[in-house]
Amino acid sequence: MPDFSLSLNEDQIQLQKWVHDFAENVVRPGGEEWDEREEFPWPIVEEAAKIGLYSFDFMAQAMMGDPTGLTLPIALEELFWGDAGIGLSIFGSGLAAAGIAGNGTPEQMLEWVPQCYGTPDNIQLGAFCVSEPDAGSDVSSLRTKAVYDEASDEWVLNGTKAWITNGGIADVHVVVASVDAELKSRGQASFIIPPGTPGLSQGQKYKKHGIKASHTAEVVLDDCRVPGSCLLGGKEKLDEKLARAHEALTAAKKEGTGSPQPAMATFEATRPAVGAMAVGIARAAYEYSLDYAKERKAFGKPIIMNQSIAFMLANMCMEIDAARLLVWRAAWLARNGQYKNAEGSQSKLYAGRTAVRVTERAIQILGGYGYTREYPVERWHRDAKISEQIQELVISRAISGLRIE
Ligand SMILES: Cc1cc2nc3c(=O)[nH]c(=O)nc-3n(C[C@H](O)[C@H](O)[C@H](O)COP(=O)(O)OP(=O)(O)OC[C@H]3O[C@@H](n4cnc5c(N)ncnc54)[C@H](O)[C@@H]3O)c2cc1C
Repeated sequence: MPDFSLSLNEDQIQLQKWVHDFAENVVRPGGEEWDEREEFPWPIVEEAAKIGLYSFDFMAQAMMGDPTGLTLPIALEELFWGDAGIGLSIFGSGLAAAGIAGNGTPEQMLEWVPQCYGTPDNIQLGAFCVSEPDAGSDVSSLRTKAVYDEASDEWVLNGTKAWITNGGIADVHVVVASVDAELKSRGQASFIIPPGTPGLSQGQKYKKHGIKASHTAEVVLDDCRVPGSCLLGGKEKLDEKLARAHEALTAAKKEGTGSPQPAMATFEATRPAVGAMAVGIARAAYEYSLDYAKERKAFGKPIIMNQSIAFMLANMCMEIDAARLLVWRAAWLARNGQYKNAEGSQSKLYAGRTAVRVTERAIQILGGYGYTREYPVERWHRDAKISEQIQELVISRAISGLRIE
């Protein structure tokens, strides 16, 4: 396991500067426009593809090429410092890439992850489809079903996915579906739905509170047929997994302990990335309100000369640093398979709360201006609200070893 170091290496410093420059010169200037338009920011994603930030190579390097695990959080903090809605539009395909990398064979990864990005001349998108209208936090109760048709060696998928980033506009949809309902989470599998597959369509596009540039929609699967080779990991591995899960379920029933808890490892691994996004939003609001407080005069002096404002800024700075430390620690532990106490969830929860608190204080520091859409802090506050309390459940289960409900 590599040493944990707070001094970034030369590659990481260069990457940080590269993404920051892009965020400052291309992403931030488009933030207001794309939030108002509430549309996918194609021209900015095209710019990101031109410089290689939106690409298979970048994601492969960020996700797997760095033994410290810090590359991705560093990049995401800078990108989301620029703008969260545009940031998620650039990073959204990464969710599908992570779903393929987490469950697919090396051959499936090489075939499908590049198709989640395309090329600068032909940009493609990926979408990762888990949530459903009646199954969000509780992913064990997915209703989307995949049934194997042995005669044609095809899987037939039916169901509706909800709140899917890039849903319906993606070229590659990665869909998690139930293949054995009795086994709940352990009876689920992931499928690639290749571009242009009949039976997949976009349902409603959601109008959101924040991160509006990012496209979020329902995905409807109506007798959607995909070749057997689209089952991530392959049929043999799935059959083995189901057989093991049935044995465990039978044992659990005998002992009266109920259904076994599904592994949380794959979900946990992505949490530091989400935490880093929140740190980026918080830092944007902190820096903006610090500058403002030094400039803005009331009662004959800059407002920062009042302790109530200065202390607020001091706390904002401290909480952002603390959040970043948790995110980096979690990213490093995740990369090296060393989680003990749901450190991924800890980082995501703390960073998410920090972003909400910091952006709220930023609105207060900007006074009446802060509440208007002429200034970006109200937008950052709306963007920051995308955080989930369910993390507390994950952490409490990890530290206690108990199935806390
Ligand atoms: C902008 C956006 C983009 C998204 N992108 C994707 C995507 O690309 N792919 C995808 O699959 N999904 C995506 N989602 C869905 C997201 O993952 C779900 O919204 C999330 O899992 C919460 O599910 P829910 O909305 O059904 O809330 P619910 O599960 O109904 O929860 C409602 C509230 O109750 C809390 N809660 C629930 N259970 C418990 C418990 N046991 N203990 C304590 N509190 C609990 C939750 O934390 C939450 O605050 C996206 C959502 C949004 C808003």
